[in-house]
Amino acid sequence: MSTSARLPELFGSMVFNEATMKERLSSPAFKAWKKSVTDGTSLDSYTAGEIAEAMKQWAVEHGATHYTHWFQPMTGVTAEKHDSFITPAEGGKVIMEFSGKELVRGEPDASSFPSGGLRATFEARGYTAWDPTSPAFIKEGSLCIPTVFFSYSGHALDKKTPLLKSMDAVSKQALRILRLFGDTTTRRVIPQVGAEQEYFLIDKKLFNERRDLRYAGRTLFGAKPPRGQELEDHYFGAIKPRVAAYMKDLDETLWALGVLSKTKHNEVAPSQHEMAPIFSDANTACDTNQLAMELMKKVADRHDLVCLLHEKPFAGVNGSGKHDNWSLGTDTGVNLFKPGKTPSQNAQFLLFLAAFIKGVDEYADFLRATVAFPGNDHRLGAQEAPPAVVSIFLGDELEAVVEAIISGTVYRDAGKQTLKIGVDVLPAIPQDNTDRNRTSPMAFTGNKFEFRMLGSSQSVSGPNIALNTIMAEELEQFADILEKSTDFANDLNALIRRTLMEHKRVIFNGNGYDDAWIREAESRGLPNLTSTADALDIYTAPKNVALFQKHGIYTQAEMDARAAIHKENYRAVIGIEAKTMVDMIRRDILPAVSAYAGALTERHAGKESLGAASRYERETVKKLAALEDQLYAACEKLEADLAAVPADAERAMHFSHDMLIPDMNAARAAADALEEITDRSFWPFPTYEDLLFSV
Ligand code: ADP
Ligand code: MG
Repeated sequence: MSTSARLPELFGSMVFNEATMKERLSSPAFKAWKKSVTDGTSLDSYTAGEIAEAMKQWAVEHGATHYTHWFQPMTGVTAEKHDSFITPAEGGKVIMEFSGKELVRGEPDASSFPSGGLRATFEARGYTAWDPTSPAFIKEGSLCIPTVFFSYSGHALDKKTPLLKSMDAVSKQALRILRLFGDTTTRRVIPQVGAEQEYFLIDKKLFNERRDLRYAGRTLFGAKPPRGQELEDHYFGAIKPRVAAYMKDLDETLWALGVLSKTKHNEVAPSQHEMAPIFSDANTACDTNQLAMELMKKVADRHDLVCLLHEKPFAGVNGSGKHDNWSLGTDTGVNLFKPGKTPSQNAQFLLFLAAFIKGVDEYADFLRATVAFPGNDHRLGAQEAPPAVVSIFLGDELEAVVEAIISGTVYRDAGKQTLKIGVDVLPAIPQDNTDRNRTSPMAFTGNKFEFRMLGSSQSVSGPNIALNTIMAEELEQFADILEKSTDFANDLNALIRRTLMEHKRVIFNGNGYDDAWIREAESRGLPNLTSTADALDIYTAPKNVALFQKHGIYTQAEMDARAAIHKENYRAVIGIEAKTMVDMIRRDILPAVSAYAGALTERHAGKESLGAASRYERETVKKLAALEDQLYAACEKLEADLAAVPADAERAMHFSHDMLIPDMNAARAAADALEEITDRSFWPFPTYEDLLFSV
């Protein structure tokens, strides 16, 4: 049967989703589960037992032999420890068992996961607990149960716990606002997320020939090929057969696991592609993005390809990001960022919009910090989209609306209609905002915001925790004011106007790549944190800690731990890259160049003895020797600085940024110049040309 005919049956076939639960659980158990999802109530042990039994039966019917609590430690990837369902039974036999207790709680050996100091070794225990709001699924013969992960003392050791808390926080405050607008039916407001995922695909054999790709996930050397992405003919271009086969396999794999993979296309750079899913609640979206990243790599392997999720695998061609599309939706299906049709709906829309603008302005530094890690430093603020300055793009029409509100004038849309919010005359809100600005880090795209600063390899949890919590804070402030109001319409208008006036500086509709904008942003007082080293310093700034503490998302200790892990990671990543570079220079590049220079020298001598011209040999040897010297010196400097990295993580991060990165740039410049004049057959590993046009 064709895939399209099988698709409805294939989709979600490996997921213990709501439909499957409804089919397989007793009505009271199903209702209890449903209630626990909507109200956050915990399940009694009897119900948990019934669900576990049904889950196990379903899993075994679908070929599973093991189960695992699937969790997201602070490394940004997922972790799993597999136990089989097997329990010994009488007569030397086994039965397949899985209890409610095993479903609900686990105790993986946690000592090897980073805790940033949250877990002293004497209490190395970590616990996992079932998250009933994200469905279990079967992957490679194991029933995977999404869980949270926390320490003996109750500190979150993962990325899911704070995400769930932030979803509750924003729901609670958004409901207060909705009630003020007369909404009595919504029971929950749910952040909606769609994460567009960029990636590169290269040939596996070539990948294996480069140690930088194997150890660092990116090329540390490589002269630019004569042809890169200048022609822009790859973007949305026809998909090559090998890539098409990969994408088909990937889609089918993702569909079976309930990942709503929707679009696939080629990106700007050669070998670069994108996978976009249909959006879902933030928790499921984070889980499925983790799953998608893992499967993208595994499926690639089946096709003798390697999927690179690094933000900048190749210098000089576009890097890979992840667009985090974010909005707030009600459990009744209303998108709170969709401009409304009636005055009252518009007032509500403008209030949410104002809250968002205020929040992004006040916590721009923190949002920047959530996307700060070494791989992303190659993109943000480094001649590539988007810049490191956080600003909001609204589009011409919506910006005109904001201007009109601030100036108190009446905005008229193209149809010359005015529109009302509350009682005051206020602008019509454009319903269709198709205007796109690809350079903005945070763009309003009609009914959602697109946060474009995320790196392709990162978990989307951190940025969404920040967006949810920031929004919770602003909505809480607004609700506090408006709940006390005796003249709602007037106070509402005044609040919207005042907020827009005070936070207008964060709105920018122009070209974000332009140097003039960076200067302008600085004069507006917007932070420009160009590197991870700068951005991580403000992660634990008092105002940021206060925000997350107030809403019960992170404790001070949990934030300190996260900052510590990121600083340690920075040192580790740059250290690995630097060591790999030294190794490749000493054992691959210098020997190859020297061999080539030796061959040329011999040929030169031979030609001289015959009285033949040998300018090419003579001059090339001289150039090679000069660059070789330069590379040798750069390598020695890099090695010396590597030996001098301070022990303290904070100092090591700054040292790596200030010393090792410039050293690495110098070494690379010399090596790439050498590549350009070295005989292809002497070059010790595949070139950019080989890699980028290999598939
Ligand atoms: P593009 O940015 O390429 O123009 P789309 O507008 O089609 O793409 O949407 C990009 C992503 O945004 C998709 O993953 C889509 O499911 C998601 N998305 C669409 N609407 C919403 C919404 N209201 N909230 C969150 N994400 C959304
Ligand atoms: Mg996009």
